[in-house]
Parts: sequence; C-alpha cells; structure tokens
Amino acid sequence: MSVKREDLADSRFGGNKWRKLKYNLLQARKQNKHTLLTFGGAWSNHIYATAAAGRHFGFNTIGIIRGEAHQALNPALRFAQDCGMQLAYIDRETYRNKTSAEFLNQLDERFGDFYLIPEGGSNQLALEGCAEIVNDISDPFDMITVACGTGATLAGIVTALNSRQHATGFAVLKGAGFLDSAVKKMLAENHSVVSSNWHIELDYHFGGYAKTTTGLFDFIRQFRSDHGIELDAVYTGKMFYGLFDLIEKGAFEKGTRIVAVHSGGLQGNAGFPQLSLD
Ligand SMILES: *Cc1c(COP(=O)(O)O)cnc(C)c1O
Repeated sequence: MSVKREDLADSRFGGNKWRKLKYNLLQARKQNKHTLLTFGGAWSNHIYATAAAGRHFGFNTIGIIRGEAHQALNPALRFAQDCGMQLAYIDRETYRNKTSAEFLNQLDERFGDFYLIPEGGSNQLALEGCAEIVNDISDPFDMITVACGTGATLAGIVTALNSRQHATGFAVLKGAGFLDSAVKKMLAENHSVVSSNWHIELDYHFGGYAKTTTGLFDFIRQFRSDHGIELDAVYTGKMFYGLFDLIEKGAFEKGTRIVAVHSGGLQGNAGFPQLSLD
C-alpha cells in the first residue's frame, strides 16, 4: 500500500480542499471577481484553505460561519482572520437554509459582488481539481481510497479512473446512505461515463461527524509512531482505520495495489488535545 500525500503540498492550503479550490479561483478571476464568499463550521478545513488561498492569490475572502461568535477565536478561525478573511456568524437554522434565494439576496446586499463557493468547496469545478489527484499518481494502482464528507473528492477521483481501477470512499458522517446518490448525481452532472467502479463504506464514522473514540486516537498515535505520518481525527484517521480493518478482514484480493489518499486536514487536530505531541 502507498499513501498519496496531499497533506504535504502546503501546510496552509494543501490537502483536498486546495484541489477543490483551484479551478474555482481560476473561474473567479475569469469573472473578474475580487471577493470569495463561502460557508463552514468553526473548524472547517475549507474555511481555512479558502482564507489561505485568498490571501496568497489576492482575493478578499468572507467566511459565513455556522453558530455563534465566541469571544476567543479557535486556532482555525484565528488563522482565517489573520489571512484577512472577514468572518460573519449565522445561527444553525439560517445555516441550513443558506442556499435559499432569499438568504443569498441578503448576502448580496450585505457584502456586494462576490464569487460564491459552496460549503466544503463541493461543486463541479471541485471535481476537476480532485481528478488531478489521480493524474498526479505515477505508479500503477488497482484501488484508491479516500475519506468522504460531501463525496465531491471521491467523485472527482472516480472521473479520472480507468475501468480496471476501483475507488473506495469512507464516510465520516453517521447515516451517510445519502452519499451514494449524491456522488451519482455529481458524476451525472459531470457528464462522465457513469461508472460503478466505486463504493462507499458506511461503518467507520465513529459515532458521527467529528466524533471520536479512544480507539480512534490510539490508532492515530500508533500510525504516527509506526509510519511517521500524522493523521487528522475527522477524516483521514477514520479512513486509514477503516482501510486497515478491511485489509485485516481480507476484504481485498491478495496483490491488490492500494493507494490511500491522505487528504490533509491536520489543522483540525488543534481541536483535539488527545493528539498533541507534548
Ligand atoms: C473535506 C475533507 C474531506 C472530504 O471531502 P469531500 O469532498 O467533502 O468528500 C476529506 N478529507 C479531508 C482532510 C477534508 O478536509
């Protein structure tokens, strides 16, 4: 098994969130937009990456954050603000309706002209960027694995596979049965050959999004000491745990060449003192 180290690209805006942003930034520039506006939770890797990329490439950035403002910013939001991102908070109810025409009109009135990037950066341009993860892998492989939140990264990867290759997604949300049709929809809109050489494992969510167990933390610490690779607790830790579990259970044919995508997200570990290095 080998690991595609997306986490090494750039500690500030590496990982899959950067892949998802790339063609959105190009599109924003083409449309002559100077401001990027997007959504996320207080620990969102996407907010973090958008803030960093905005600063690097000269865009103003606005982050609409789910939940209440706190007196002291957590390290993720502190970083975003230090990058120049303007933060605005909305309650969870409004957040759920953030794609309604009414709310988007309010944003227009409040912030003026901007390029809208959806939550998680998950749109069709994101798929194009994530396809490049596969194109950048030089050694032949049979199976590629990745953690799934919205499934856009998996969908992008699937568009770049040949018919003998298979992708396995690991859902990090509980009850993520919806992901299957979500990925199918993204692939259909992508006009890529709708293929069946992928599937999603639903049993490695550890209780739900950003939920953890001592078993998960033990695994991440063991992985660190065995392989010298840091995993995050929200996405990649669960994916590698699941992958190792499936390998142990003999789920893959002997000789299968597996590439596991390390999609980054390490900034989120600042929220888990269990993983601190000291
Ligand atoms: C967001 C994220 C994912 C999931 O990406 P989706 O395209 O939403 O499925 C996986 N890994 C990391 C580190 C992420 O930040």
